[in-house]
Amino acid sequence: MLDRIAVSAREAGRSPDDVTLVAVSKQQSDEKIDAMLAAGQRVFGENRVQEAMGRWIPRREGVELRLIGPLQTNKVREAVALFDVIETVDREKLAEALAREMARSETAVRLYVQVNTGLEPQKAGVAPGEVDGFVAYCRDLGLSVEGLMCIPPEHEPADRHFAMLAEIAARNGLHRLSMGMSGDYETAVRQGATSVRVGSALFGARG
Ligand SMILES: *Cc1c(COP(=O)(O)O)cnc(C)c1O
Repeated sequence: MLDRIAVSAREAGRSPDDVTLVAVSKQQSDEKIDAMLAAGQRVFGENRVQEAMGRWIPRREGVELRLIGPLQTNKVREAVALFDVIETVDREKLAEALAREMARSETAVRLYVQVNTGLEPQKAGVAPGEVDGFVAYCRDLGLSVEGLMCIPPEHEPADRHFAMLAEIAARNGLHRLSMGMSGDYETAVRQGATSVRVGSALFGARG
């Protein structure tokens, strides 16, 4: 996996060091996760706060944890306590709750804004045309947005969506792009992904 990421990065004239592999551990067994830790993987992604707490509180030391699933405002306190990075900031109420909780707990969590590049009604994320305003809103709250994240529509070529995310990030002065999953992470790296979120291609099918 890291070899293939490195090849794709070099093809695009990028350094492999500029791409982080986020191992998506949702619904995977403890055995597989412990094997991944033993192999040296240190960055993991989870899509549910509760599930992540059970799996990661006992293994938290030395690990970077990223929330890549939707966050309800009533879970903000737990999410800020557990995660290093929240990649799914997508509405004003959530941004406000995160700002309040980070101030209260004196905890800095790195934040990404999720963009619904395919304008899919069932998917979370800010519409592409509203990202500039939303990023400005977050910055006004004192939040420091690190980058953008997207999940392209399942049955479309992903490259157009990755290009759109890169363009929106560039015009907002953002330098991190979380894009690419098991089926398209090489494409994402060639298009500028700074992190790829890979689950099944790394761990095998989810339980
Ligand atoms: C589950 C998930 C992934 C990983 O999916 P795979 O296809 O198994 O690599 C990546 N990103 C998000 C947001 C996910 O929920």
